[in-house]
Amino acid sequence: DGAVVTAKGPPRRAVQLGLEVAHDLKNSITAVKALVQLGLRNPAESASHARLAIIESEITRMQERLLRCLSIARALDELTPTVVDLGPLVSDALLVLSARAESARVRLRTSGDATVEADPRRLTEAVLNLVANAIEATPAGGEVSVQVRSSAGGAEIVVRDTGRGMHPETLRRLGTPFFTTRVDGTGLGVVLARSVLARHGGSLRYESEPGRGTTVRATLPARMAP
Ligand code: ADP
Repeated sequence: DGAVVTAKGPPRRAVQLGLEVAHDLKNSITAVKALVQLGLRNPAESASHARLAIIESEITRMQERLLRCLSIARALDELTPTVVDLGPLVSDALLVLSARAESARVRLRTSGDATVEADPRRLTEAVLNLVANAIEATPAGGEVSVQVRSSAGGAEIVVRDTGRGMHPETLRRLGTPFFTTRVDGTGLGVVLARSVLARHGGSLRYESEPGRGTTVRATLPARMAP
């Protein structure tokens, strides 16, 4: 059996996220300031171009983090509940990711349907993040499937991939803001998905085994708490 973690939240998590973002940006700003000061002190030095390149990439990183933070803040905002058919919602999300899946030669499949009360835009954002991660982890020729089904209390969206899976240590750190194993990752996708599910009164649960793949189970109550 693969390791299991349960993701819950958010109010304490939101505060923690704010603190971590602030801390991280402070580090980047300190680094950029030091690089600029070095340049100012040695105006004719030949390494200045390399330094500018580091400064530029550091600023890009800060911009990306701020953008992701804004989208997380939106996710934590008031939700607008309506009656949502999850089957079509998942199909639309898969359509958005179909080009990416095709170029990675990963097959996308979906089945099932269920109706819940939810905010469809936020929920779509969460599903997009989970499926994008699944595609990213899956080698060419593999498959990502998304199953929707009614459960006792509401509904479940299960995203299954035949990808590289995760070691227990990765699984443990999953959902920590900025934790990423990708060079171009932001480490905020799971944080965002988890926030959205928690705001709906649901949860996110990961089961994973290295080399075998990952199953993410998102549960949603039939009705959102007022
Ligand atoms: P990012 O995608 O920017 O790295 P996420 O928060 O979405 O940020 O994911 C954090 C990390 O969790 C990823 O870098 C990856 O190592 C791991 N991860 C998430 N989903 C999966 C998955 N389905 N299979 C394998 N690893 C995953």
